[in-house]
Amino acid sequence: MDEVVIIGGGFAGLAAGVALAEAGRRVRLLEQKPYLGGRARSFVDSATGSVVDNGQHLMMGCYHATRRFLLAIGTLDCLAFQPDLRVAFVEPGRGLTRLECSRWPAPWHLLFGVLASDSLAAGEKLEVARLSRRLAAREARGADQGVGSGGSRGLTVEEWLQSLGQSERLRRNFWDLLCIAAMNEDPRRASAALFEHVLRLALFQSPEDSCLGIPRVGLSECYTRAASDLISARGGRVEVGRSVSSLLVRRDGAGGAAPILEGVVLSDGERIQTRAVLSAVPWHAFLEFLPEELARAEPFFSKIRILRPAPIISINLWFDRPITDLDFVGLRGTTIQWLFNKSHIVGSPGHLVSLVLSGAREHVDRSREELLSLAIEDLGRLFPAARGAKLLHSVVIKERLATFSPSVESADARPTARTPIRGLYLAGDWTDTGLPATIEGAVESGYTATGEILSGS
Ligand SMILES: Cc1cc2nc3c(=O)[nH]c(=O)nc-3n(C[C@H](O)[C@H](O)[C@H](O)COP(=O)(O)OP(=O)(O)OC[C@H]3O[C@@H](n4cnc5c(N)ncnc54)[C@H](O)[C@@H]3O)c2cc1C
Repeated sequence: MDEVVIIGGGFAGLAAGVALAEAGRRVRLLEQKPYLGGRARSFVDSATGSVVDNGQHLMMGCYHATRRFLLAIGTLDCLAFQPDLRVAFVEPGRGLTRLECSRWPAPWHLLFGVLASDSLAAGEKLEVARLSRRLAAREARGADQGVGSGGSRGLTVEEWLQSLGQSERLRRNFWDLLCIAAMNEDPRRASAALFEHVLRLALFQSPEDSCLGIPRVGLSECYTRAASDLISARGGRVEVGRSVSSLLVRRDGAGGAAPILEGVVLSDGERIQTRAVLSAVPWHAFLEFLPEELARAEPFFSKIRILRPAPIISINLWFDRPITDLDFVGLRGTTIQWLFNKSHIVGSPGHLVSLVLSGAREHVDRSREELLSLAIEDLGRLFPAARGAKLLHSVVIKERLATFSPSVESADARPTARTPIRGLYLAGDWTDTGLPATIEGAVESGYTATGEILSGS
């Protein structure tokens, strides 16, 4: 049986590689960078020796595929899951407030948490409760027949929340923060259908599914080495610094027969013959090596061009003293949205905090200095200890192509794992997973493609 060539060594490619290797298939994984991990990776900052992620990643209990993958490679304990969903917020002039959910069965865990929270005004709690009850009632009736079935199809998050009577203040202070964190997109662009689906998965299934999981080590350490070792131990190969430049596709032309994949060509000229290739690269990288005429003329592929990127900015700051005791906290009324206390979470040396600015289209062209002063100003408004603290070192990371933008239009652009080219399969967070661009979507897509490969051969 042919070896399966996997292009891309992020979560999608590695999860598929492990699943295929465990199913007895020989895997050859090619990654263009000198390291694995793609958009979820970490590196050692040479100035401080701290391990820094390319951007703080949060997971949730409802990341079932991701948990299965980490369990398979033996690194599930790299994630620390909360016992219950707990989120702290700070806001200028209001200080610290909390949302803490209990162990009640869903959706009561959420409803009671919202009602008891001091982070929402009484009227806002009722608005959230009304929306929650509505979603929960549909869930109980089994009315969630897929993405957008709850009346959100074709709407933006903003339009949907407005149609459900959620006030302007609540949208800005609560839903927008959730939408940008989960979807990496402004609620005025983000697809309500996708958001509704995420809310159902994350908040209405069980208290366990709602808990947040934070890596307690650098992101790469959570999976890259262990996955690569498992693939190698099963007779496969994982090669870094190997970039695919084109696909070898045969078209007989007769009777409209499907094009057939015959292999890949690498940028150093090497040709690898195989009848099974899984592309697990982002959509823009895939379009680079897909034959031009198929990318243009085949509707399955040409629709992919609708997808647009959405950036995330991460600002890592080393101070001479602690500025907060919290592990992580949502920031309201500021440009920066989340703070993660890396010295607490991963035991980084010194006093390191990582700040997250998602949905960062408006800010991504700002200079490093501008972003730093914006961050320092936001922290000074929220944390008294930050005002006297001395900044010792900083690392600003702009991921311009962090995710695809989950706009209303993006739903039609996302392809399935099986393609019109026989032998070519697709995975990656941007494929048709029903989820926004997340680790869970990436791993899930890797498993879906694995299923297709195993059943198609
Ligand atoms: C800053 C940031 C914060 C995020 N926060 C979260 C979060 O909190 N929670 C969450 O769930 N998700 C988050 N995400 C999203 C998550 O990181 C991605 O959804 C996930 O990592 C995508 O995995 P992937 O395998 O689909 O793609 P990638 O990780 O992009 O992997 C694709 C790989 O293919 C390689 N490649 C590309 N072209 C070629 C080629 N021609 N030949 C060979 N190899 C090639 C690339 O180098 C890359 O390694 C975040 C992303 C970013 C950037």
